Amino acid sequence: MIDYQVDADGIATLRWNVADRPMNVMNAESTAAFDAAVRRVLEDPAVKGAIVTSARPEFVAGGDLDLIRGIADAQQSFAASGPVSATLRRLETGGKPFVAAINGTALGGGLELCLACHRRIAADNPQAQFGLPEVTLGLLPAAGGTQRLPRMIGIKNALPYLLEGRKVGPAAALAAGIVDEVVPADQLLARAREWLLAEGAKATVKPWDAKGFKFPGGSPQTPGPTQLFFGVGGGLLQKTQGLVPAPEAILACVYDGCQVDIDTGLRIEQRQFARLATSQATKNMIRTLFYAMGEANRLADRPRGVPVRSYSRIAVLGAGMMGAGLAYVSAQAGLEVVLLDTSIEAAEKGKAYGAKVMDAQVAKGRLAAEKRDATLARVRCTTDYAQLAGCQLVIEAVFEDRAVKAEVTRRAEAAMDADAIFATNTSTLPITGLAEVSSRPAQFVGLHFFSPVEKMPLLEVIRGARTSEETIAHALDFAKRIRKTPIVVNDCPSFYANRAFAMFPYEAMTMLGEGVDPVLIENAGRQAGMPMPPLALIDEVSAELLHKAMKQLRADQGAAYREQPQDHVLTTMVERLGRLGRKVGQGFYDYPAEGARQLWSGLAEVFPRAAEQPTVDEVRERLMYSQSLEAARCVAEGIVSPRDADVGSLLGWGFPAVLGGALGQIDTVGSAAFVEACDRLARRHGERFEVPPALRELAASGGRYHPA
Ligand code: NAD
Repeated sequence: MIDYQVDADGIATLRWNVADRPMNVMNAESTAAFDAAVRRVLEDPAVKGAIVTSARPEFVAGGDLDLIRGIADAQQSFAASGPVSATLRRLETGGKPFVAAINGTALGGGLELCLACHRRIAADNPQAQFGLPEVTLGLLPAAGGTQRLPRMIGIKNALPYLLEGRKVGPAAALAAGIVDEVVPADQLLARAREWLLAEGAKATVKPWDAKGFKFPGGSPQTPGPTQLFFGVGGGLLQKTQGLVPAPEAILACVYDGCQVDIDTGLRIEQRQFARLATSQATKNMIRTLFYAMGEANRLADRPRGVPVRSYSRIAVLGAGMMGAGLAYVSAQAGLEVVLLDTSIEAAEKGKAYGAKVMDAQVAKGRLAAEKRDATLARVRCTTDYAQLAGCQLVIEAVFEDRAVKAEVTRRAEAAMDADAIFATNTSTLPITGLAEVSSRPAQFVGLHFFSPVEKMPLLEVIRGARTSEETIAHALDFAKRIRKTPIVVNDCPSFYANRAFAMFPYEAMTMLGEGVDPVLIENAGRQAGMPMPPLALIDEVSAELLHKAMKQLRADQGAAYREQPQDHVLTTMVERLGRLGRKVGQGFYDYPAEGARQLWSGLAEVFPRAAEQPTVDEVRERLMYSQSLEAARCVAEGIVSPRDADVGSLLGWGFPAVLGGALGQIDTVGSAAFVEACDRLARRHGERFEVPPALRELAASGGRYHPA
């Protein structure tokens, strides 16, 4: 785990080499081995100092989350984090100099190890990233990160790394004072040795262990940092609505821990960690954001035995909002892209979208101009279907209109290679129906992207009734190639994400129609941790779009269509009032040219307030449980797996990660309590809250969607 060598000058080299894991991670075994190596350095009189480095491309990638997953109670959690922190403190105060020779990425515990060393020298490695990303999984840096970083670079400078999990490369780390030197990779070890021999002996006492230590930028009680804590604390609450425990715990570590000596600060950090590691919110976040998403990204559900398809050239039909984004992300991933529209101008306009996004990155210095030019050069605009020859995949993103899609499908298939896949990016129309015009329905699949394509990480791969398993496997290969997180979804109107998410705006409109105060609705949505309150959200996507989808469903189902409780609100807003949403400057809100949106004052007249108003908890329950219930129906109908349902809800529509996802919410509340609440809601508000039998059985047996 830790290779140990001592040279003739008495310099020990400790090389991290956790060979049984895909990366160097800190777990019980590796940290015990590291502790033994540190003791050896300190106890061997022949050793003058030590270099800590790695035998692998990365330095140390962080803590092993398997360790945290196994923690059952606060005591175990205290015991899990304590030894690492103690080892680093021993290293720091043992009287011999340690230098971190950081050859590659150092994240989480890996960076904390570096912070404990007496000097940090980084290789000029463009791949290397430094940061403390624990917060993004609901955790906190528990090996001294919350204590050492503020003492090194000041509270104000440290907070973005601690609270947002900011990651930086070597040059930015040097500028921030996180590392002391950046040197060419081939000189890293020589320079570390040189420093140890020349300066090491003078540098074994850290500033915070020396008399008269002055906190850079002031300690927490001084005016600057005090003001800062007020501002940051307030901003945090506004952002998280108090639902996310990790950033609050981190702030407490910094505020409390930086007013006392470092050993007490480290104990404060450990206590906060113990509380977090056992919290349901953190367990939910780790399960979905780390394990479930990891499985989805590794294509765990890819049909077995199908050779991997490697893509080099694809085509996108329709260069509108979605087609433009699709062409851009595909070209960015190194693929040749044929971008086809009805006129060359329309296709060029789509290509220009990617150019605009990249121009902004070039202007900010985040992208080299040559890279942008090379990406753009891979996109070829055309109106000619003959160009589809040689493409392994053709994705259609034309108007959401069956006749237009049918025409495009026929023309494309006539020109495509025999083994190429045809994919549709429809957002509502079932794949099986669209595939009826296809001459090779086994190679017809849904690839449902989200807007804006370059920002949204989720891809729903939709299996039509006749889609082959080989096509599903190859569609998943494409997702991986363009670095999207795929979930596999069986066919139904609106598929999974849009179908379950729609309950949020629908329930909001239903309540508005019942006379619930819109301020109450919006506040409840915000307090529940949704990224945007529901009526504001409808304005963003435009009520017109939802109205169109409703009309389509009505036309498709004919006499079988059952009026939905939100339909009359939609019709009123779109047909009677023309308040289509933000794009026309008026919807549920007014959008003044200057200043923030405001709820439209006319809403009270159109939807008169009921005399009796529900509590905010009742409103929140309706907004949130309706989504989970629809997700549970999708699982019961075999549309999506529980794992993909949760991943899809976090990545597709920003469902609160602290709940673990739409099904995670049911597990968090407890399936029996959830069913009881839905039964109550069904009695009061109607059959849309009726629980599917599979969920009722799960609750009756005390079951969960995910193991505890
Ligand atoms: P859009 O109106 O912005 O673009 C459609 C493009 O298709 C236009 O450039 C149009 O010129 C072109 N087009 C129309 N008929 C054509 C034909 N016969 N041949 C070639 N090109 C043709 O639409 P959009 O928002 O990009 O949506 C495209 C598809 O993606 C729709 O099926 C939509 O449901 C789906 N979708 C949209 C979103 C979204 O948020 N907008 C999200 C997911 C999926």
